[in-house]
Amino acid sequence: MDTFEDRILEAVELLQRAGSITAFTGAGISTESGISDFRSKGGVWDRYRIVTYQEFIASHDARVEYWKMKRELFTEIKGAGPNEAHHALAELEKMGKLKCLVTQNIDGLHQDAGSSSVIELHGTNRKAVCLSCGKFWPIEEIQERLEAGEVAPECTECRGFIKPATVSFGQSMPEQEMKKAYECAVRCDLLIMIGSSLQVEPAASIPREAHRTGARLIYINRTETPTDHLAEVLFRENAGEVMSALIRGLKSKSAD
Ligand code: ZN
Repeated sequence: MDTFEDRILEAVELLQRAGSITAFTGAGISTESGISDFRSKGGVWDRYRIVTYQEFIASHDARVEYWKMKRELFTEIKGAGPNEAHHALAELEKMGKLKCLVTQNIDGLHQDAGSSSVIELHGTNRKAVCLSCGKFWPIEEIQERLEAGEVAPECTECRGFIKPATVSFGQSMPEQEMKKAYECAVRCDLLIMIGSSLQVEPAASIPREAHRTGARLIYINRTETPTDHLAEVLFRENAGEVMSALIRGLKSKSAD
């Protein structure tokens, strides 16, 4: 692998030439914000059994267990803010370079950093939804109800089950978001992938689709992915460090 500086130069060149950039992000971009990858050891999902969507619908005990996990997760991520990598992507959008931001994350940190129109493939943890009537609440309201002793909150309108507005195991990916994400993949001429091990289909196919339709790829991920060979520039370094260096490089080039 070339030196860090060489790869930064190469990537800045790609960024500069690109007319339309799509970013695709996964859990790895948020670990530097103190949000642990749910797959990692010691993470909330390592300590709790995964409750599938079907179990959630079918059993009160499963809903109680699910909300217990979520309550602990909310406490854990409370106060977590966007890091340099989130901010860099928001900056790329302001520069008119980044047209699409597709994320597998449910933490809302891209929006906190100032990115607009984020495509959230797995929904969001920032809101809760009634599975019967579709009413939404800010997650803080539901968190307060949990703190006040409720164990499996029900809808105040129709008594339906309330669930965070995320895509759970056993639930299919939202069609509209997937469609938009594919459009972004096809339309872009450069895709930056940050912090996904690209193990989960169909999400993993988005960088592949971008490559197939002629886009160049930059990968920033600590571990190997199945499509590393497609990436023109590959970084194993921290996403925050890499993205800040790229923005600095891009700015100094445009100042020339
Ligand atoms: Zn309802």
